[in-house]
Amino acid sequence: MPAQKKSAKLLHCPTCGMIVRPQDEDFPFCSDRCRKIDLGKWAVGAYKISSPVIDPEVLEDLGGLGTNRGGGSHE
Ligand SMILES: [Zn+2]
Repeated sequence: MPAQKKSAKLLHCPTCGMIVRPQDEDFPFCSDRCRKIDLGKWAVGAYKISSPVIDPEVLEDLGGLGTNRGGGSHE
């Protein structure tokens, strides 16, 4: 296990909690699978919940995702 550095910031996959790095292909998720699970979860929630309750944390997450949606997104 490498020594910890102050500059190293560990982030966790929102789906499974695994440690991810900003340079990872599927950041902020650890894998494409977790990304799809998370998107599916929100899609289901959007249909189930009619009232626009948005958590500030969610807005931050969406902002972070914005930088990661340049291409390769197939919907
Ligand atoms: Zn994950």
